[in-house]
Amino acid sequence: MSSRSVPPRHARRLRATVALLAAGAVGVTAPALTGTGRAEERDADGKVQVVAAFYPLEYLARTIGGDHVDVTGLTAPGVEPHDLELSPKQVAAVGEADLVVHLKGFQPAVDTAVEQAAPGHVAEASHYSPLVEHTGAEEDDGHAHAHEGADPHLWLDPTRYALVADGVADQLTAADPAHGAEYRANAAALTGKLKTLDADYRAGLEHCTNQTFLTSHAAFGYLADAYGLHQLSVSGLDPEAEPSAARLAAIKQEATEHGVTTVFTETLASPKLAETLARELGLRTAVLDPIEGVSRDNDYFSVMRANLAALQDALGCAK
Ligand SMILES: [Zn+2]
Ligand SMILES: [Zn+2]
Repeated sequence: MSSRSVPPRHARRLRATVALLAAGAVGVTAPALTGTGRAEERDADGKVQVVAAFYPLEYLARTIGGDHVDVTGLTAPGVEPHDLELSPKQVAAVGEADLVVHLKGFQPAVDTAVEQAAPGHVAEASHYSPLVEHTGAEEDDGHAHAHEGADPHLWLDPTRYALVADGVADQLTAADPAHGAEYRANAAALTGKLKTLDADYRAGLEHCTNQTFLTSHAAFGYLADAYGLHQLSVSGLDPEAEPSAARLAAIKQEATEHGVTTVFTETLASPKLAETLARELGLRTAVLDPIEGVSRDNDYFSVMRANLAALQDALGCAK
C-alpha cells in the first residue's frame, strides 16, 4: 500500500485550484478551497473513484479494480434496476467520478447524467458487446414474443460479459495507468473464470429433453441464444409490464405446446403472475435469477451456477 498517486481527474482539479490561487482570484478563493478540501478528504486514500450503474457492472469494477478503486453502485441492493431514478447526490457522484460504468438504454436517467456531467472516463457496456434484438429473429413464427427493441441483459451470457470486463479494464487503465498491469491481470483472471462457466453451461445444457423455458421477464435471451434454448416470457423485457389477456393466452398455449414444466420466478420482481400461471397450467415454479441485484451472500458466479442447476432441472438435462 505504498502508492499514493492522485487519479488524473483529481489532479486536474487540484491544478485548476492552484492556478486560481496563483492568479490571486481573491473573490473565489474561499469556495475553491472548500471544494478542494472535500475532494482531498474523499480521495485521501488515492483510490480511483468509480460509479457503477447496477450490480453486474459494479461486480466487474470491484473485481478488476481490487484495492485501487472505491466503487459506488447507483442501484441499491434489492432494488430493481430497470428505469432507475437518480437522486441529486447520485447525479453529482456521476460528475465527480474518475470512471463511470453503465449500459446505454437500460437506465435512461444514468445515460442523461453521464451525457451532462461528462465524467473523466466512461465504460459503456454495449460499446464492448453490442446489444441485439432477439425477438426480431422470430418475427414470423407466430409466437407470443414481444417486440421491444434491443435486449439489455448481456451479462447473462458469460462470453459477452467477458467482453465488457475487458472494456472496464481498459478504462480503469486509462484512468489510472500506474496500476494498469494489475487491472489487466485481474480482468484476465475474471475472463478465465467466465470461460469455465461458459464451458459448464455448454456441457450442462447439451443433453436435455426440452429446450423451451418460461420466465417472468425476458432477461435470458442472450443466454438462450448462447446455449441453443428458447425463451418464453410472461412480461417481455420490462419486468413491470403487465401482459395483455391475449398475450397470456398465447403464452399458455405455447407453454403447453413446448412441454414446459416450470414457470420461473425471479428475486426482485413480484412472483404473483408467474404463480397464478403455474397454478392454472399445473406447472412447478422455481427461481431463475436475472442477476439485476444480488443478496449479500451471493455473487455473479454463485447465482449463474444456481441458474444452471435450475435450468437443468426444468429442462430435464442429463447431469
Ligand atoms: Zn418462439
Ligand atoms: Zn431485466
